[in-house]
Amino acid sequence: MPELPEVETMVRGLRPALVGQTLHRLTIHDPFLLQGCTAEEIERQGGGAKVTAVDRRGKWVVIALGGCRGSIVIQPRMTGGFWLVPPDRPQHVRVSFGLKRPERTVWFCDARRLGKVAWYATVDDAEAAFARSQGPDALIITPDDLALRLSKTSRGIKPTLMDQKILAGIGNIYADEVLFQSRIHPERPASSLTAEEHNRLHAAIGEVLNRAIAAEGSSFDAGYRTVLGLEGGFLAQNAMYGRGGKPCPGCGGAILKTKIAGLIGRPTHYCPTCQPAIGIR
Ligand SMILES: [Zn+2]
Repeated sequence: MPELPEVETMVRGLRPALVGQTLHRLTIHDPFLLQGCTAEEIERQGGGAKVTAVDRRGKWVVIALGGCRGSIVIQPRMTGGFWLVPPDRPQHVRVSFGLKRPERTVWFCDARRLGKVAWYATVDDAEAAFARSQGPDALIITPDDLALRLSKTSRGIKPTLMDQKILAGIGNIYADEVLFQSRIHPERPASSLTAEEHNRLHAAIGEVLNRAIAAEGSSFDAGYRTVLGLEGGFLAQNAMYGRGGKPCPGCGGAILKTKIAGLIGRPTHYCPTCQPAIGIR
């Protein structure tokens, strides 16, 4: 599912197509995804508006409109994604952005309809809504803020990293990779990390997420694709996720695929040698 690197890849793909362009027509094909606004309102604000910026906040895509037309915020959630080429499953188109010059369409598709589409009167309103529901962006959070937030919970470090109210943008795949790179066991109580581990963790978050952005994210099954319909390349080069039983790139021992408390239904991959179970009962 789209995590921070996938949403950043979407934003970087959308920016050259949308910024500076006038929306000839904005069409909501599926009002089910709308949050706090009607299809008529959002179509009226978007129609004829110029796109001034496309940015990311955590896993949100923020499309700012000029001329006091506000901001459209789209959360791809589990199965949402943008298409600059005609989507492979047109029945899943939920929003379309019709551009004037050159005449073209940008589509937002969502197979499982779990995504959200909202409109805010100003960018500040969109920022405030983000701040109310999410912690700081995982690529922006400072080492001190991260340490403070982790010190307040005795939950396992992995589910804590994936808690969007603690920091926004990290899901299952990147949590495994970040913890391997920082040599921290996924079940360590978050509050038990040392200052040195906080620093390792903060550095690993930045390094892993930026490497994943450079690879244009992670694709598996029929899930995430780039705006050109291509697969992301991160899972061809990562160390942990999807590699249970294979040799650890750190020590050569077998990578363990398991389930941990607080993450029922999602697998966890780690190396029991490189990520020792210090202080875990
Ligand atoms: Zn290892």
